[in-house]
Amino acid sequence: MAKQSPTKLLIKVLQLELANGCQGDAAVGGIAAFTNTWLPSVAATASQSQVCAVEQLSAQFSRYDSLTRQERTSLAQKALELLGKLPNESLSRHSRAPDEGVDWDDPCTVLDGVGAARARLLAGLGIYTVGDLLLHCPLGYEDRSQLTPVAELTHREMHSLRLQITDGGKIARRGRLTIVRVPAEDESGQCTLVWFNQPYRATIYSPGTELLITGEARLSKGLPTVSVREAERIEDLPADWSSCLVPLYPVTAGLSQTMLRKLIGQALTSCTAPPSGVVPSAVEAGRGLKKLPWAVMHVHRPPDQEIAREAQKRLHYEQLFGLQAALAQRRHKIKQHNSQAVVSVEGVVSELETALPFELTPAQRRVIGEVLADLARPEPAYRLIHGDVGSGKTVVAVVAVLAALRAGRQAVVMAPTEILSEQDWSVISHLLDPLGVTPALLIGSLSEPEKATIRQQLASGVIQCVVGTHALVQESVSFSDLAVAVIDEQQRFGVAQRARLAAKGPGTNILVMSATPIPRTLALTAYGDFDVSVLDELPAGRQPVHTELLVGRQISRAYETIIGHVERKGQAYIVCPVIEDNKASYLTAAKELFQRLRDHIFPSLRLGLVHSQMPAAERDVTMAAFRAGDVDLLVATSVVEVGVDVPNATVMMVQNAERFGLAQLHQLRGRVGRGTQPAICVLVSGSRSPEVIDRLKILVKTTDGFEIAQQDLLRRGPGELTGSRQHGIPDLEMAGLLGDTKTLAQAREDAFALIGEDPDLQRPAHQPLKHYLARHIERSTDWTI
Ligand code: ADP
Ligand code: MG
Repeated sequence: MAKQSPTKLLIKVLQLELANGCQGDAAVGGIAAFTNTWLPSVAATASQSQVCAVEQLSAQFSRYDSLTRQERTSLAQKALELLGKLPNESLSRHSRAPDEGVDWDDPCTVLDGVGAARARLLAGLGIYTVGDLLLHCPLGYEDRSQLTPVAELTHREMHSLRLQITDGGKIARRGRLTIVRVPAEDESGQCTLVWFNQPYRATIYSPGTELLITGEARLSKGLPTVSVREAERIEDLPADWSSCLVPLYPVTAGLSQTMLRKLIGQALTSCTAPPSGVVPSAVEAGRGLKKLPWAVMHVHRPPDQEIAREAQKRLHYEQLFGLQAALAQRRHKIKQHNSQAVVSVEGVVSELETALPFELTPAQRRVIGEVLADLARPEPAYRLIHGDVGSGKTVVAVVAVLAALRAGRQAVVMAPTEILSEQDWSVISHLLDPLGVTPALLIGSLSEPEKATIRQQLASGVIQCVVGTHALVQESVSFSDLAVAVIDEQQRFGVAQRARLAAKGPGTNILVMSATPIPRTLALTAYGDFDVSVLDELPAGRQPVHTELLVGRQISRAYETIIGHVERKGQAYIVCPVIEDNKASYLTAAKELFQRLRDHIFPSLRLGLVHSQMPAAERDVTMAAFRAGDVDLLVATSVVEVGVDVPNATVMMVQNAERFGLAQLHQLRGRVGRGTQPAICVLVSGSRSPEVIDRLKILVKTTDGFEIAQQDLLRRGPGELTGSRQHGIPDLEMAGLLGDTKTLAQAREDAFALIGEDPDLQRPAHQPLKHYLARHIERSTDWTI
């Protein structure tokens, strides 16, 4: 991009503003902010009399938003006239301004402070261009008029404070942990600021520095401490910092809130081109949506909550519309194929029922009906079957498989790991054996000749049904006539693997099965190109897991419960949030708890310990012992969350439950209650904060995974989102969109209608959308799971 002098930049923007009819949108961050940034640099090279004129202009421009059209026009004209008379080489500029004006479509590296490393971090958030950055929507806002004085800090809660540093910092080391303590105060009292593993913090603040701090307070003996989450120098904040709403952005490790705010601020004041949105104006008009430039400006610098919400909503619409259009297009492409209807669906269910040891649940019947109706149609099925763990998805898959086989065609079932593949294979074999069908198993650990034989028999059609891992999607695997492909535990596969499997037979009917409950809003974004079936009931006879919430000292009651269950031949899990004790943290560590329980609390029980840092072989031995009933009590970290199936386990106790997401706790709870004995889940909260207790109580009240997932996503604050990108959530920015079901529904309706009318996006009004989709797909297809 050509270097431009501030004068030229101002001229460019003001001319654009006049051409646009002085709507205030020629600069993304607003005309007032733009002129405020650049006019001072112009003044630096002007003559004395011109300086006065520039300053006057500057003052008038700062009220630009409240001027009438006519006043704006005459002000812009006056400014252009003056700028025309100035020397044009003034390259010195305001100290915090970026080097030059930037464009909406420029890569982020044009911004000051963005090199290759930071650009990579931004890319991790889906931000590649200045425009992406400006569309990075805050999750919420911090109200800085609400500061806590030191004297009013409350234990273990987050606070914002305005503090002055009183002395130099001290560094202490404990194991691998570096702890920096810096004394600070406000009028009401003194406290100590604490940073972990950031030794430079000890020296960067000289006494007297004023900071705005956000962090978690600890009140025990001595001075209160604040474990700092965010620190900003007051002098670096905009003049109106205490009265404005400060955006809280989704961030990522290595890219702080402060840095994102700086970068977005920079983009706002230096981006000269208006945003290129993807929503055609006809759609905008139809929904009565505000224009995009307005939203970009106000979402980052809102004067009040109401405007912030409206601006956010408009940006959400922009993003959701783009995503939904991509989904609509993908669906359109898939449904275009001809799947040669699998006609012999009649009789398949009754045939299978003769071999089933149980009655199908009504939910299974309904979903099987939906799947068979898909198969009977000439376009390919493309369906997600969604149901909690244990809801009986395998039987549904088997019906589809059998329908393919009875039509004389082939079927494949793919699972993410060898263990799960073997598990599926044994269940499916068991069901199909009596009907004279023997499925093959294709996994990586077979010998090469064995694999070669299976591949050859799949290609020739001798094998009709195969179960396996992603070994199935390798190029060397081909089918003679693939009709049905089932993908189990779909959340663990990438889109690419799914697509490769589908490509094994053009027009293959695709069924994907997922046990991760996700809320409807997210399902519509992540799986929005699928038809969805939900298995919303468990087979009869299962007992819901009774859930209790304990706070702090009531823990001995939980230990009594465990003894009771073990005496009745049950087994128990105790899950801890961390492996190793860390003196600076109050969290219960698995290793320490294991020793304490073994030596003092349950000396008569057989205990085991598993965590992610021990060798896999050692972990497998302990898990096998637990499965065999040779271990009564298993102390673990969240490694037990997936894949472990021990029907005899009846107690799940979670330490520091506040540290886990609700959906994750629900998965942990799903490890028990898999047998016939009543099971219990005990959540131990290390926090008494009403918010935490409220959140955990959701699990006490309901065992509905979907309800829990929805609540989880609505409640997860930006803080929690930073560290824990939960498995199965496609995109961080997506989380901010989830509360907004109505906007999603509208964007989806509009986008699907648009693709229905113009599938290849040939109309002129749809070109920005076409461009966006091309770019989006080029970057990554894995934004949907
Ligand atoms: P998931 O949905 O987790 O894949 P599975 O299909 O593995 O669940 O089923 C879990 C267990 O429930 C299996 O042991 C299966 O045999 C059993 N099951 C499935 N459907 C029924 C039913 N209608 N009645 C009783 N048991 C069932
Ligand atoms: Mg399953």
